[in-house]
Amino acid sequence: MVLRGGTVHDPATGRARVTDVRLEGGVIATGDAQPGDRVIDVTGRIVSPGLVDLHTHIFAGQDLGVDADGVAFPSGTTTMIDTGSAGAHLIGAFRASTLERSTVGIRAFLNIATIGATSILLGGELRAPWYVSEEEAVAAIDAHRDFVVGVKVRASADVGGEHALPALAAARRVADRVGLPLMVHLGPPPVGVDEIADSLREGDILTHAFTGWPGNAVVDDDGRTRPSVARARQRGVLLDIGHGASGFSLEVARRMLAAGQPPDTISTDLHAYSSKTVGDLPQVMSRFLALGMPLGDVLRCTTVTPARAVGLAVGELTPGSRADVTVLELVDADVEYADGFGATIRASRELRAVQTFLGGQQVYERGSA
Ligand SMILES: [Zn+2]
Repeated sequence: MVLRGGTVHDPATGRARVTDVRLEGGVIATGDAQPGDRVIDVTGRIVSPGLVDLHTHIFAGQDLGVDADGVAFPSGTTTMIDTGSAGAHLIGAFRASTLERSTVGIRAFLNIATIGATSILLGGELRAPWYVSEEEAVAAIDAHRDFVVGVKVRASADVGGEHALPALAAARRVADRVGLPLMVHLGPPPVGVDEIADSLREGDILTHAFTGWPGNAVVDDDGRTRPSVARARQRGVLLDIGHGASGFSLEVARRMLAAGQPPDTISTDLHAYSSKTVGDLPQVMSRFLALGMPLGDVLRCTTVTPARAVGLAVGELTPGSRADVTVLELVDADVEYADGFGATIRASRELRAVQTFLGGQQVYERGSA
């Protein structure tokens, strides 16, 4: 199969040029079109590695979970990372209900609470401290190393009250024991952004990094990045968006971009209760285009950087890499995006997925059922 005439962005190399992309045997091939190749005209469109969404909730059957394949393919997404929907006691159920029954690429962060981030309509998973078990977490990760890529803790007052900080310490110890990244969510204080940032090491991830909870923003009112966050970035800590229902503030994003501190990864935090606010991954990307971030940077934040953050060899278009490819178009539009904190931004352009290819197989075509 040949995708002909599109502007090909390969964020791994930073290159963007009009060229053909050939998919053969499930990988990106070199060389020109061969007789018998199916040629798809993508003139005027953007050809990108399949999108990688670093923050989702796709645990089938759980109240938070959205349908992985159903959400992924129409949004150009070929890899979804579930971030802590399941803890040690439910990761086997996640494997059976979601990993083994979906086509899209799936990896997961294990929640430090054995019950996982189950219904957000009830108390948070850290309210009962006996659900945090380091031993159970380590055993679960050992048993599911083929798809568990890190440890997640929602260390904030709303999720854990006084137990949030001890849970952060427990998650830190587990991540160190198993040698995987730690992802911490940034929510309302009193667990402070400084305490969280100081606990993170190279390769760890701060998600909801641009959230707007008063007292916990990564940037102050005068546009200065919080020193603890700047230090964490220098150590190699990644700032992830995790838009969600209350994980993203347009004002914080504006200030961070003005301070020369763009995000490392752009993700949705899609779940049953956030999808109305979020839309889909291309719409979250469109917010950053509207904020003035260049397309190439936005694509890097949704392909190669999140892939490498979890040790996956996807998110690039170099010959020989897996043929996860997305065709997008940037259309003139007049749309307004909300941020979950009461602010909106008007955009004159919107990114939309046109075709999605997973391992060389077409899994989505816009307009066809
Ligand atoms: Zn989340």
